[in-house]
Amino acid sequence: MAVQTQVKTFLNYVNGEWVEASTNETISCINPANKHDVVGNVQKSGKEDVDQAVAAAHNALASWKKLSGAQRGEFLYKAANILESRADEIAETMTKEMGKTLGEAKGETLRGVAILRYYAGEGMRKTGDVIPSSDSEALMFTTRVPLGVVGVISPWNFPVAIPVWKMAPGLIYGNTIVIKPAQEAAVTAVKVIECLDEAGIPAGVVNMVTGTGSQVGQAIVDHPQVNGITFTGSNQTGKAIGQAALARGAKYQLEMGGKNPVIIAADADLDLAVDGTISGGLRSTGQKCTATSRVIVHEDVYDAFKEKLLAKVRELKVGPGLEGETWMGPCSSEKQLETVLSYIEKGQAEGATLLYGGQRLESPETKDGFYVEPAVFENVESGMAISQEEIFGPVLALIKVGTLEEAIEMANDVEFGLSASIYTTNISHMLSFINDMDAGLVRINAETAGVELQAPFGGMKQSSSHSREQGQAAIEFYTSIKTVFVKG
Ligand code: NAD
Repeated sequence: MAVQTQVKTFLNYVNGEWVEASTNETISCINPANKHDVVGNVQKSGKEDVDQAVAAAHNALASWKKLSGAQRGEFLYKAANILESRADEIAETMTKEMGKTLGEAKGETLRGVAILRYYAGEGMRKTGDVIPSSDSEALMFTTRVPLGVVGVISPWNFPVAIPVWKMAPGLIYGNTIVIKPAQEAAVTAVKVIECLDEAGIPAGVVNMVTGTGSQVGQAIVDHPQVNGITFTGSNQTGKAIGQAALARGAKYQLEMGGKNPVIIAADADLDLAVDGTISGGLRSTGQKCTATSRVIVHEDVYDAFKEKLLAKVRELKVGPGLEGETWMGPCSSEKQLETVLSYIEKGQAEGATLLYGGQRLESPETKDGFYVEPAVFENVESGMAISQEEIFGPVLALIKVGTLEEAIEMANDVEFGLSASIYTTNISHMLSFINDMDAGLVRINAETAGVELQAPFGGMKQSSSHSREQGQAAIEFYTSIKTVFVKG
């Protein structure tokens, strides 16, 4: 693959200006399809840069929150149009930077456009209630006020959608933002900020500081003028952020990992179930928080399901995400690839049977990238690491069960509770699953990895701090309720 010779260096965005970090250091964003290709350099910022960004966000707050929701929405509509007009270019950057196929990257970018438009409209919606007072001469009602400066800390796996679904509601409800995107996909995130800048968002309302989690992320979390922190990423990081935020009384929202099950009931439409399992588990190279990883199959259909699944998995074309015929791109980084390979080894060492795949791809076309074949295991016991821990890679673990009750018990037997699905044609099976499955997203005859922007999104158990993002539920994090009593 030809590599870029001229590498562009991208700047931080602070108080409406594109600026270098105080450290004079940069981080290179590498193409996981070809490690010799540097997609761009971003600033490796430090605490001083965060201080400047927070000061700008703090200063911008008073005038931003004075605007009406409709006025704030105008900026989001404009940003949506600009993002839409740049969708092909930004999708290509995303594919080059974190590996997902161009089709998925384009879909995600257009999702970002739709989220901006959705929240632009939310600026016109009622946000309070009139509550009857026991005093007949008084009026009592609730109104909502913004949190203030919100720190946004985002992961690399959805570098457009996640920053947008955090910033858009934050902005529409009158907050100002300091965002630190994941360093692995920061160039894509910079381009999203460019759209907000081009839309004319007032200086200081959105600020972006790129860099590492331990320096920039931590400085945002610890900053006394950051009133709320919204984080999406791994459990380990999320829990530490939650504790630090709690210690200084900041509001926080954590969306973290998953270990999502799909149940294939004896009465399932097997072709639908196979397609949903493959798409849910292996799209984006399994690097979705909602990715299917535990495949719990009734014994009556186990063999038939397994054969159909393997026949289709064998056909999946793994390669560079920019190539049209590629179905699955590389892992997003060497570290991700090593994690996936180590789980494949661990699974075999613990006694599971590797039915297919799991090998690093090292042909002349793929040897410089972080490619792995999708892997399918069977004879997986619930206690095994591949059945309990989030791998974040293209690995499916088949588990055979005798009854629906056993299947649901098995599906719940993990510390996570983000997404879960069942394939069945039996209404009472559907209802048992809806009632008994401990997950924030429960899906019937649909893959685990499905999210609609207008519906609440978030997990139970260790997957979340139990708040919800997206849709109208987002208002709960980004505002506080004020109860007003007026006596004439
Ligand atoms: P990560 O936890 O390594 O990093 C997430 C972000 O936190 C990055 O921007 C990182 O730089 C920052 N960070 C790291 N250490 C920090 C610290 N000490 N203080 C402040 N910030 C810090 O996660 P990742 O590898 O980027 O993303 C993958 C994880 O994200 C997976 O576990 C996945 O399940 C999860 N995820 C969850 C959802 C969801 O909505 N539930 C969605 C996508 C991804």
